[in-house]
Amino acid sequence: MNTPVKPAADIGKGLFHTPFWLAPEKNVFANRSTRFKELADAEHSGWRDYLNLLAAVCAAQQAVADGRDIAAPARGQGKTVLPEAGQGGVPSEFFAVFTALLDEVQGKIPAAAAQETERLKKLGRADAEVLAGRVLAGSTQADDRAAEIWVQAALQIVWTAWAGRLNENDVPPTEADTRTHCPCCGSEAVGSVVLIRSDLNGFRYMHCPLCNSRWNVLRAKCPTCGDAGAMRIQQFEGPDGLPPAYAAANAESCNACRTYRKLYRQDKQQYADPVADDLATLGLDIMVGEAGYERGGANPFLLAEE
Ligand SMILES: [Zn+2]
Ligand SMILES: [Zn+2]
Repeated sequence: MNTPVKPAADIGKGLFHTPFWLAPEKNVFANRSTRFKELADAEHSGWRDYLNLLAAVCAAQQAVADGRDIAAPARGQGKTVLPEAGQGGVPSEFFAVFTALLDEVQGKIPAAAAQETERLKKLGRADAEVLAGRVLAGSTQADDRAAEIWVQAALQIVWTAWAGRLNENDVPPTEADTRTHCPCCGSEAVGSVVLIRSDLNGFRYMHCPLCNSRWNVLRAKCPTCGDAGAMRIQQFEGPDGLPPAYAAANAESCNACRTYRKLYRQDKQQYADPVADDLATLGLDIMVGEAGYERGGANPFLLAEE
């Protein structure tokens, strides 16, 4: 009998190898769309409309992503594996993806949102890229607010396609004290997930809101300051206990640095998504925020109030 030959880089990783990095799931946008729809159906306030809109945005992201082949970018520059998002450089693919996304949602979104997409369709390439540059650099203006989810959604398609071209050996483990940020694109994690995948059951992975990579971080320590003794897990306490949307959502807060991040336990809700579930569990943020903790990691679809 022959022993299967392993690629050289995999030798020594052993049976219980825990990968540092996990590639974006192939259907990440479609799955997120399904989850937004489920969460919208369970929501009884006016916020439901926004969750439904995001379900349509994510479905369109998947359609656009599936319909094109985005080439890998030049690698090995700077401290991230892919071009670093916060540097503000707009990918050359952005404009084509952005316009395809706006076309894709036509007829599938409410009139108010369609008014904005019609306006954005009239932007020339140069103006659209300037807008995208502001979104990437975090320097958007009040007038950009309605445009932002569309730009964010298009940027996610590009970076996620790039990350999908990497393999595990391309993404070496980073230092423990930099693990709040994505090793591929430098974005701060939107939250983390405790997996139930058989080989990785119970492991915690941070989730990138831009390229949808996941990377492993030990559960015992605060990912922000490294303190191991002051972490607390909190869940939302409503008047009637824990609402169903909050079953998997936890806030991991640290008394040493007074920050918190959200963590989703797939053993409580196997379809929990760190982007979608975040927006359906804002009561948890309000509760922890009122207790004096500052959130680490922003959701690209949660737009700041002016
Ligand atoms: Zn990333
Ligand atoms: Zn801390």
